[in-house]
Amino acid sequence: MFLLVLTDDELEKLIKAGEIVRRVLDYASSYVKPGLNVLDVCERLENMIIDLGGLPAFPCNVSINSIAAHYTSPPNDSAIIPQNSLVKVDVGAHVDGYIADAAITLSFNPDYDVMVDAVKAALNRAISMIRPGIKVSQISRSIEEVIRGYGFKPISNLCGHLLRRYILHGGKSIPNISGNYPWIVEEGDVFAIEPFATDGGGRVVEGSSTYIFSFVRNRAKGRFERKLLSFIRSHFRSLPFCTRWFKGFFNIDSVVDVLDRLNKNGSIYGYPVLKEVKGGLVAQAEHSVIVTGDGALVTTLGGRLN
Ligand code: MN
Ligand code: MN
Repeated sequence: MFLLVLTDDELEKLIKAGEIVRRVLDYASSYVKPGLNVLDVCERLENMIIDLGGLPAFPCNVSINSIAAHYTSPPNDSAIIPQNSLVKVDVGAHVDGYIADAAITLSFNPDYDVMVDAVKAALNRAISMIRPGIKVSQISRSIEEVIRGYGFKPISNLCGHLLRRYILHGGKSIPNISGNYPWIVEEGDVFAIEPFATDGGGRVVEGSSTYIFSFVRNRAKGRFERKLLSFIRSHFRSLPFCTRWFKGFFNIDSVVDVLDRLNKNGSIYGYPVLKEVKGGLVAQAEHSVIVTGDGALVTTLGGRLN
């Protein structure tokens, strides 16, 4: 393995973040069950990231059935994980801005297990292909082939992405469907690869709720808007955050209103909950990898070499 592009310090932090995410998802795979409060799951997994020496890189996503992504509990969420559900748990941690991002899908109905197998197989195929010089188009084609081979559709408008320091979606993407994409994988790139499969229409649309935001620019007007925005910049930088994270610092009801205003005036960006267009079930698998001289190091799998 040759990794001249990243320093030892960067490598160490990326691997530590990956190890934190691995341990949190390992715990989640036995802890998350129907009947649990989604809010408890989000808070417990985020606290575990902190206990292990990292910080959440984004709010813990718990996306159920036809919800594909971007659901995190709002404050006082009463949602419960339903029986017979398909649950995506997507977790990110960072160490000094160096991010790991990974997800698992838990099936509580044996009929759904094969969809989970499909995304895992697609992810394994993609990881096995990663090396400097490979075209993203080749990886995307394989992801689509594997998912279709299981009889499902890939989600066309959700993509893997480059991870950069304090930047969750940096530059290059890895789409889950075939296409002519401009990107080439390079040594030192850090990617989150995340195949999504569905038995629905094959794309996601925005729902009406938004629980996750990130800082864009300072267009705050009133005193409280400025105060909240400065809190956001110093605590989360450009990384995604949620309303729950203001608990203990601000009055939550006021935060909800002000975030809505900041979203409308372009100071922050809102990530609406994403749901499958036809209400199909959605499964996801995700790992973060560092591209090495001759392959990939999967940070969220104990730094395993491929
Ligand atoms: Mn993720
Ligand atoms: Mn991701």
